[in-house]
Amino acid sequence: MNDESGIGEPGVEIKKTMCWPSPGCHCNCGLLVKVKDNRILDIRGNPDFPYNRGAVCAERVPHFVQWLEHPDQLMHPLKRRGERGENLWERVSWDQALDEIAAKLQDLKARYGAECLSTIEGTYRSDFYPIRARFLNLFGNPGNVGAAGTACACNKVALSFALAGTTLPCVLAPPIKRLNCLVLLGRDYWAANPVRRRPMRRWREQNPGAKLIVVDPRRTEMAKMADMWLQIRPGTDTALLLAWMHVIIERGLYDREFVERWTHGFDRLKERAAEYPPERAAGITWIPSEQIVASAVAYAGNAPACIMSGLAPDQLGRNATRVEQAKLCLHAITGNMGGKAPGLAPEGPGPVVDGVMAIRDSMLQMAELCSPRQRARQLGSDRFKLMTWPAWERMNALYQETYGIPLPMSGHSFTAPEPAIWRSIVDGTPYPTKALITWGSNPLLNAANTKMVYRALKSPNLDLHVVLEHFMTPTAMLADYVLPAASKLERGTLSTMEDFTSVLVAAERAVAPLGERRTDYHFFRELAIRLGFGEHFPWETEEDLYNWRLAPLGITFKEAATKRYVITSSEPWTHETINPRTGRPTGFATRSGKFELYSNLLEELGYDPLPCYEEPPESPVRTPEIAAEYPLILINGGRFLPQFQSEHRQLGMGLREQHPDPLVEIHPDTAARLGILEGEWAEIETPRGSIVMKAHLAGGIDPRVVHAEHCWWFPEQPGAEPSLHGLWQSNVNVLTTDEPDACDPLTGSWPGRALLCRMRPVSPPA
Ligand code: SF4
Repeated sequence: MNDESGIGEPGVEIKKTMCWPSPGCHCNCGLLVKVKDNRILDIRGNPDFPYNRGAVCAERVPHFVQWLEHPDQLMHPLKRRGERGENLWERVSWDQALDEIAAKLQDLKARYGAECLSTIEGTYRSDFYPIRARFLNLFGNPGNVGAAGTACACNKVALSFALAGTTLPCVLAPPIKRLNCLVLLGRDYWAANPVRRRPMRRWREQNPGAKLIVVDPRRTEMAKMADMWLQIRPGTDTALLLAWMHVIIERGLYDREFVERWTHGFDRLKERAAEYPPERAAGITWIPSEQIVASAVAYAGNAPACIMSGLAPDQLGRNATRVEQAKLCLHAITGNMGGKAPGLAPEGPGPVVDGVMAIRDSMLQMAELCSPRQRARQLGSDRFKLMTWPAWERMNALYQETYGIPLPMSGHSFTAPEPAIWRSIVDGTPYPTKALITWGSNPLLNAANTKMVYRALKSPNLDLHVVLEHFMTPTAMLADYVLPAASKLERGTLSTMEDFTSVLVAAERAVAPLGERRTDYHFFRELAIRLGFGEHFPWETEEDLYNWRLAPLGITFKEAATKRYVITSSEPWTHETINPRTGRPTGFATRSGKFELYSNLLEELGYDPLPCYEEPPESPVRTPEIAAEYPLILINGGRFLPQFQSEHRQLGMGLREQHPDPLVEIHPDTAARLGILEGEWAEIETPRGSIVMKAHLAGGIDPRVVHAEHCWWFPEQPGAEPSLHGLWQSNVNVLTTDEPDACDPLTGSWPGRALLCRMRPVSPPA
């Protein structure tokens, strides 16, 4: 496979592509794909690709040919006949679909304003977000982009822009091999990032003195490898981290030099941390105070040290983003932000090669077209301000001044909270959303409060719903048009990862799109042409666009994708780098020019400027009356292989077969008390509804906690209503809430975890 000639077979080519965004996961593994006559013969890891060095996960990659050739893959545009959910469709051409969609959008815009359109997007299943942003800004839309990212990592990125003025490696991808201490906070590399298993093992073997601390209510595979496992009460992570700060400051274990030179607000943070002695935090978190002290000392005493949080803390509702704030403050006071921890320094934009920067996403977004009047109309921005225009405008001014380019608003660190979009459809408040473009997302499964999402998608108020997909999902069942989208195997990639990184990643496509599948770029460009602003999309194909983005560096897309893979800056741009614009150290793009332990931005937006702990919206402490009836704490969303979020549920490609049924993890003592048996079906009920899953008895979970798998649906069940492919049977979001008061006041992130439930044994579903 490493032989570019295709091991001598006539007509065989080896294509250098990537596993992300679909059908793979976010580990961004490079692949070598053997192709003949536009058919994939074999897929292996690319040994030269820097992120995976030839490794791929055995659970998924061997099945991707079956995935691509699965008979249920969508191959033609479909238009609804009958009612939404009747599963009656007619095949139409792309031109007909695009003409009709454009005409409808034009008409709705004339009647309701450009704000009547929203988009719904999944967990980074495309790299064309800057193209969507450009499209929306040209359309006149205020940025009504609903995305899973609000409750999945992107709130962290928004916060790092607020506190550090840029992104930080500890938010997304720290250099593990350089660390002396790694703290995993609600993160299970084993299941979520399978190709990190090997580097993790190697790090443990080669650094016997390095510490691994795992904070998780479950004894995950990572917890089994750890030096310390802190079995935390779900939803209380901020209290733990504030107690760590208390210990570190009280014992003088912080980095005085970094604190004095590069941070703002240490004394105020010290006062806040003083409110959380370990004994108090022990009562909140269920972690013994001696373990809190020992882990704090281990973290502070083993630089370079990194706290890596998963998306579990992002899904805690009211306290979600505060976990990350406490974490970043810990990084700053312990100096794990450059200096003695060079791999953890803030990352300025890039790649910058010999003083020249490639075209980043933010240079495509055209945010300047969105007027102040329209910005004020972005859904949810009056209440949830950290990921919407109120924060963006302030942060952008500082970012522009520091780096000379716009702050990204095209990725999911900038979103209209989805709960606001659903309510705008259902209630018409504050104004009606009449059109929805859902692409790379399945909100009936991945969004909180499925009943609300269902009401919105079935609402007669919604005049147009377009879905771009690979397979017919429950959400696609409720569309007016379903358009077949090209997967990563069928299109090239050039990405700065939403501008969250300073690198450009490039990969070529393996095969030409099958059937009539088209790229997301094609969709937005063709719509733009029909809506009268096609001149702003002069690149006929995405490859033309990629070549234009790379032109400042003098590199072609072909060269980038087949020889370079990951283009990095010639020198990292950190806070200590002399800024060519000022001749002084760059510092942090914040009002103080420093990392803000006391956040001026949060204060300006009306929030507590310091990290603060708040009980989950439902808990034995906050709502004892609910806990009396629903005594178990429900968590969900922990990854499981080989599925990825709501994908890979189809039978017949060897993926679902590895993990055929939805599982709920429960402690054996709790199960025995409730009469629930291993492998038998059980009902999980919250005040909002009930579902069923198979019980899996696991001694490593706290007896007061249960963990339900997420995003379960069943393509083998009927597509038409009322089934919608078994939407209501085991979908954990039937149990969750998206009530605005339960959401994170900073971002609108909804609480998928740390809710209350009860369980009982039931008969198998029909
Ligand atoms: S871990 Fe597996 S699915 Fe994810 S990108 Fe790597 S090879 Fe693909």
